[in-house]
Amino acid sequence: MDNPPSTSRAGLAPALDAEEDFRRQVRDYCRDELPPAVRRKVLGNLFLSKEDNLAFLRSLAPRGWVAGHWPRVYGGSEWTPLQRFVFEEESMLGGAPWLIPFGVNYVGPVIYTFGSEAQKRRFLPPILASEEWWAQGYSEPGAGSDLAGLKTRALREGDHYRVSGQKIWTSYVQWADWMFCLVRTSEEARPQQGISFLLIDMRSPGVTVRPIRTMDGCHHVNEVFLDDVRVPAENLVGEEGRGWTYAKFLLSNERILSAETGRAMRQLAHLKALVASTPSDGIGDRAAFDRRIVQMELKLHTLRAFCLNYARSMDPSQPPGVEASIMKIRGTELQQLISEATLDWLGSSAIAYDPADVNGEEAVSPAGPPDTSGAIREYLHGRASTIYGGSNEIQRNIISKAELGL
Ligand SMILES: Cc1cc2nc3c(=O)[nH]c(=O)nc-3n(C[C@H](O)[C@H](O)[C@H](O)COP(=O)(O)OP(=O)(O)OC[C@H]3O[C@@H](n4cnc5c(N)ncnc54)[C@H](O)[C@@H]3O)c2cc1C
Repeated sequence: MDNPPSTSRAGLAPALDAEEDFRRQVRDYCRDELPPAVRRKVLGNLFLSKEDNLAFLRSLAPRGWVAGHWPRVYGGSEWTPLQRFVFEEESMLGGAPWLIPFGVNYVGPVIYTFGSEAQKRRFLPPILASEEWWAQGYSEPGAGSDLAGLKTRALREGDHYRVSGQKIWTSYVQWADWMFCLVRTSEEARPQQGISFLLIDMRSPGVTVRPIRTMDGCHHVNEVFLDDVRVPAENLVGEEGRGWTYAKFLLSNERILSAETGRAMRQLAHLKALVASTPSDGIGDRAAFDRRIVQMELKLHTLRAFCLNYARSMDPSQPPGVEASIMKIRGTELQQLISEATLDWLGSSAIAYDPADVNGEEAVSPAGPPDTSGAIREYLHGRASTIYGGSNEIQRNIISKAELGL
């Protein structure tokens, strides 16, 4: 067999150097500019307040990293998919929070791709400056996986719409100034055809938010009731009835970064440090537990290699392929495996849990190491990761349809 051309490795070197250089920049940011109080809470798996999230976003602004992947003309840095991946991996590994995506990653790109010039001028600058908080109003009590079944109605009356209906599982809308919302503007033959994309001011009369406590005892999600809410017609994005197209565009951005390898790396390192420093009353067979750790490590290496390969070769102008679904499934399953193993190791000290212990500024635990409560919270909240962002069963359907034609 012929040797591979000797230039191929040399040709790769500058790209790998650039990748490593960018990784170094993100590590420097985490060390020098990420607010220490935010890092402490993230490393302890505590619940972050709105102020914590805003402090994180504002600390990214001087480097132009709030919306790194946006086009320069709208204030971004035109990151490649690889830079996006590296930023997410290194920042999460370095103690930065998950970047809550509703403004920067979701509605921002919809507005600059499909919105009017007036909408771009009105909405993009406050997203970049972290001055307005956004929420995503897609799911309804009868429309989650089957999103096209949504029933929230928007009736056009002159220069405005009147919107009535209910949204559910709306993350962090309790902090939101605005909610982008899928609404039904007509009853067409195909349910996807009568959907439109509206921007709703959360201060509008007729909007009511009711909290839902999740099993970690924290306030992530809500119900939103819309009772004859008046929304100016100028808040319609793109064309009436084309909301499904914009929604799919947004969902493809939602899935692109769902592997969260940086978080898995951090949590696995935490588990290994715990094992090295703290005896366990929860593990009977130590050799079997060590094998579990090795298996998780292998899954993590495989997932990282897959993600890096994909990010290096992805064409950002095309919607992501089934790779995004594979990353979502593998990434979320791995997170759950790590958090389960952590609880198993903590044994009896992981039985007592009070949400008050994870809502403060410091890690507090009635039993076990100080970050035990945070580990329990991570485990409990992590149950949701295989549901949100399109459940893992739905991701499997996407893969089987695309690859097997089923
Ligand atoms: C913590 C959290 C935060 C969320 N944040 C938001 C948010 O900010 N905004 C928003 O709009 N939504 C949000 N969601 C909602 C989320 O998108 C939905 O929960 C999700 O799409 C599943 O829909 P569902 O809950 O209606 O479950 P269903 O669609 O009723 O599904 C129930 C079960 O059936 C399975 N299932 C359904 N259809 C199929 C099928 N065709 N094949 C195989 N299995 C199937 C599902 O996988 C699931 O296991 C959030 C959810 C959670 C848990």
